[in-house]
Amino acid sequence: MNQTNNEAICSACNVSSGWITRAATIKKRFGAVSVVDRGVMLPHCGACGDWSIEAKALEVVEIKAAVAAIRDTVGGLNGEGMKVVRKILGLTQAQFAKLVGYEAAENISRLESGDREYPRAIQLAALFYLEAGVRGEIDLHLLSDEMKQTGAAPALPHDARLEVTKERAA
Ligand SMILES: [Zn+2]
Repeated sequence: MNQTNNEAICSACNVSSGWITRAATIKKRFGAVSVVDRGVMLPHCGACGDWSIEAKALEVVEIKAAVAAIRDTVGGLNGEGMKVVRKILGLTQAQFAKLVGYEAAENISRLESGDREYPRAIQLAALFYLEAGVRGEIDLHLLSDEMKQTGAAPALPHDARLEVTKERAA
């Protein structure tokens, strides 16, 4: 039921009685934390109230939810939650390790299984990319392919007027 025309038949109730566009409630779980987005405008079936969302639109909702989950969870997400974040970024454990500047895939694997606390610094590194994706500065759909090709994390866009250089130690 991705069509918004009133003749479209609802796949849930098989009735065509018009579609009403209103805010849907979409919940995404990140381990011990969940994020509810009540602001996604979608056509609802006039008969049964069912709605669906296109995959591409859902990805945008999930990226925004991941930003909120990392940013607004005191102390950060657990391993299970960060695994969900990695999957939203579409990355393997090895790619994610490279993206956030962490040692190796095995370490990400261990963190995701929850053996020890998931370092906040890694979560914030992932947040940089998620937020750049929300702002449209990078296309997170291409992140995995780009890393496959170049073997490195893509550079985030920066303000060309600001030059950052390393000072030699005194
Ligand atoms: Zn229906």
